[in-house]
Amino acid sequence: MEQQLQEKWNGFRELVAKIGSYNEAVGLMYWDLRTGAPRKGAETRAETIGLLSTEAFKLQTSDEMGTYLDLFTQEAIASQLDDTDRRLVETVKKEYDQNKKIPESEFKAYTILTSKSETKWEDAKESGDFDSFEPLLTEIVATLRKFIGYWGAKATPYDTLLDMYEPDMTVERLDAVFDRLKKRLVPLAEAIAASEIKPELPFLSENYPKEGQQAFSHFILKEMGYDFDAGRLDEAVHPFATGLNPGDVRITTHYYENDVLSAAFSSLHEGGHALYEQNIDPKLTGTPLAQGTSMGIHESQSRFWENMIGRSLPFWQKYFDELQRQFPDQLTGVTPEKFHFAANRVENSLIRIEADELTYNLHIIIRYEIEKMLFNENLDVKKLPEVWNAKYESYLGITPPNNSQGVLQDVHWSGGSFGYFASYSLGNMYAAQIMHTLRKEMTNFDEMIEQGDLLPIKEWLTEKIYRFGKSKKPSEIIFDVTGEELNPDYLADYLEQKYSSLYNLKL
Ligand code: ZN
Repeated sequence: MEQQLQEKWNGFRELVAKIGSYNEAVGLMYWDLRTGAPRKGAETRAETIGLLSTEAFKLQTSDEMGTYLDLFTQEAIASQLDDTDRRLVETVKKEYDQNKKIPESEFKAYTILTSKSETKWEDAKESGDFDSFEPLLTEIVATLRKFIGYWGAKATPYDTLLDMYEPDMTVERLDAVFDRLKKRLVPLAEAIAASEIKPELPFLSENYPKEGQQAFSHFILKEMGYDFDAGRLDEAVHPFATGLNPGDVRITTHYYENDVLSAAFSSLHEGGHALYEQNIDPKLTGTPLAQGTSMGIHESQSRFWENMIGRSLPFWQKYFDELQRQFPDQLTGVTPEKFHFAANRVENSLIRIEADELTYNLHIIIRYEIEKMLFNENLDVKKLPEVWNAKYESYLGITPPNNSQGVLQDVHWSGGSFGYFASYSLGNMYAAQIMHTLRKEMTNFDEMIEQGDLLPIKEWLTEKIYRFGKSKKPSEIIFDVTGEELNPDYLADYLEQKYSSLYNLKL
């Protein structure tokens, strides 16, 4: 690159780094608010967050940024950049376009609308009163329909929303994938419901003091290779992971003393998210490439560690001893096999976040189909409870007794996050497909887990996925790792195999 161009490039990188610093400060403040910040300081802190976010937004959409992006997307100049730098420009440009195409006043109005709506949703969820929330939700959907017009509809309007969370994912592809999944998972769930074999559960809800659970969460995170010098474990009402930079990736969990599974599995889940971000190539630090490449791939890593590793029999053959050491009285007479079955019980239930590994996907397919109706078929928001309940009856055989346990259960729509839900099932499918390849390469996969030899697995994932951060697209990651496109059969195979042995099914 000639000197003048090099200077421009340095200027662009400095601007990107500056935005990154604002975002890191905001991220740290959010973490602080959710992990026990003094209540009396919350209001001032919220103002500070608002101010810093606005500053970052102004830089992101500034004329200076526009000039850099115009320059570095010119073909003759882009061709002088290496792949990673080109991807950096593309990533920054995508966000720039997304923000820049919305008139400022409409963007502001939408921000106010969604924050009002989240509060209203909390009340509505509490009381089950959908009608009180419906006008705001109607306005959010109408605004997003309009924004899709500004952003430009892809093959269908809903494609535009999907692409924000899972770049290049389409309705056409997802329709095919979810249809296939539905055809295999609905009969599996029915076969399990008809099985006479049921796990024993009473020991799960004995009293498990927090200290023992905390010790076990720390222990298991160290075993999977979570680096406590580049992160920390705290408590929060809703567990989450937050990557401030690859050297500071924090996780939280929540301890319920009457539930021994919850914290253990949420630590494994958030630990999976964290392993991803801790192992991103340090070269990418300070750029928007130093994060997971998509919501779906991110979720594939949390679910890989939580479910494919953490809910496997070899895992409990190795680690049940340690749990029993913490809780000898509560777990008297329980075997690793019994514990494993209890941790894998399947039940058609109403609430997504409490669902098992199998029916979880049906909860997601329902939401996907409804969102598609809202944006591609102009479904009236007023009809949501009716459509919701009919789909629960059809896929899971149960009808919510009220809207709190039905259409009002999730926070996502109140914040305008349409297009997000699919990521959760994509995560399950990606994880199963990645595990299929991993098992081919590590033929002693189960024995490794049974011996607690988890670090080579983390290293394999780092080599194939983690280190790239956002410098590879999700479809590239999946293709390069597994040699094929997203294929839902790996998840269906894995679930059929797991549950036919637990529930003694003849499929
Ligand atoms: Zn997650």
